[in-house]
Amino acid sequence: MKYVSTRGAQNLGGFCDVLLLGLAPDGGLAMPGRIPTFGPEQIEALRGLSYPELAYAVMRPFIDDIPETDLKRLLNDTYRAEVFGHPDIAPLTALGDSGLYLLELSNGPSLAFKDMAMQFLGQVFEYVLERRGEHLNILGATSGDTGSAAEYAMLGKARVNVFMLSPHGRMSAFQQAQMFSLREPNIFNIAVEGVFDDCQDLVKAVNADAGFKERYEIGAVNSINWARVLAQAVYYFKGYFALGLPAGAEADFCVPSGNFGNVFAGYLARSMGLPIGQLVVASNENDVLHEFFTTGTYHVRPAARVAVTSSPSMDIGKASNFERYLYLITGASLGTVSGAQTLAWWQDVGEGRPVNLAGTPHWDAVRASRFVAGRSTHADRLNTIREVDAEFGRLIDPHTADGVFVARPHRRSGVPMVCLETALPIKFEDTVREAVGRSPERPTKFGGIEALERQFTVMDNDVEALKAFVAGRLDDRRRDAQG
Ligand SMILES: *Cc1c(COP(=O)(O)O)cnc(C)c1O
Repeated sequence: MKYVSTRGAQNLGGFCDVLLLGLAPDGGLAMPGRIPTFGPEQIEALRGLSYPELAYAVMRPFIDDIPETDLKRLLNDTYRAEVFGHPDIAPLTALGDSGLYLLELSNGPSLAFKDMAMQFLGQVFEYVLERRGEHLNILGATSGDTGSAAEYAMLGKARVNVFMLSPHGRMSAFQQAQMFSLREPNIFNIAVEGVFDDCQDLVKAVNADAGFKERYEIGAVNSINWARVLAQAVYYFKGYFALGLPAGAEADFCVPSGNFGNVFAGYLARSMGLPIGQLVVASNENDVLHEFFTTGTYHVRPAARVAVTSSPSMDIGKASNFERYLYLITGASLGTVSGAQTLAWWQDVGEGRPVNLAGTPHWDAVRASRFVAGRSTHADRLNTIREVDAEFGRLIDPHTADGVFVARPHRRSGVPMVCLETALPIKFEDTVREAVGRSPERPTKFGGIEALERQFTVMDNDVEALKAFVAGRLDDRRRDAQG
């Protein structure tokens, strides 16, 4: 499989190349040159596979530069009951006989759905780096979920170090404890005196220094990584089969969305032939995606205008993976995918101008793609947490509550609606307590983690201090490796 850029570049190499790539040289995102599809009988043949077998069947058509036995081993090592807390890896639970279901994606080490892909990334990074004799030093910024998922995925990896910046004192107590209690020689937590945007600006400033970046093998694990999107497509198949529908019957999915990576993986699964009906995009008060799917205008918001909400992992004004979706839409509207069209749109996006598709053939293609959208407020999420607890005896987190709230008005009679559970309620204890007046149950392995010793470095918002820190630690690591 040859990969191309959403903005037109043709030769990005194979899966292992784009795995380590970040952005394409033209600024676009990596996409497979074509999307392999399964016919109805091939889909039926996937029913009943274990999670790692299913992952192999779904991902293999996109990965032809890792030998079969190696890829199977990587997937078996990734999707284990001990890591994901359940033999099904992504179990499906019915909410009574309401026709609503929860697809549980948050029983992994960081208690958020990002583990589903990030754990695979940890395995496949180590494998590819080993084969190439390279190292990777991940420099990232987090306001919570991505940082802990990345750190748990890279624990103990010999060829990967993680430098994770977070805004000092601004994460939830649980999130801080999850990250800062890790005591591993390859994990460095840096608490920056500033807000999340300052952390992100520091990462950008280090990446802008090409010499430093190359010398210290700096890379990223952000949500535009193709391997993350691909690994996420697997659980749509898993959730669909768990419904036990007759062959070919449709199911709808509802996805709490921010960077559009998770719901795009659902679109990928549908494009491969899985009978998904509607894809419901759920937003919070930061509703750029809702605005697009209801009006045809995509207008990104600058960081200063992104609201701080009780579903913070969706507080995003610019949905990185949305570019992949519009790129595929050009294929439907123009007959063949157009990097030139995507490039033209993203020139506007990059300069803060709205892209308006209403009245164009592209908008007809968007409507035909069966995406619908909705949004919730803080009060909606609290009410939904309360209702789901009262009606079904099940506590959900504010992101999942956003999904359930938005899903309800889109229910179709006789068609199941699968809501993706993107985090466990314990991660957002304060909001859950505000809703139901009690704290969620805590998985035993996290009992008392707030009391564990924490290891992190407090740093001024200063790029030179950050570079000196990274360089110093990496020089130490290299010396240790030699001595
Ligand atoms: C990251 C995240 C989201 C948003 O997912 P995207 O792939 O960015 O759309 C939703 N909920 C939780 C809990 C998350 O951590």
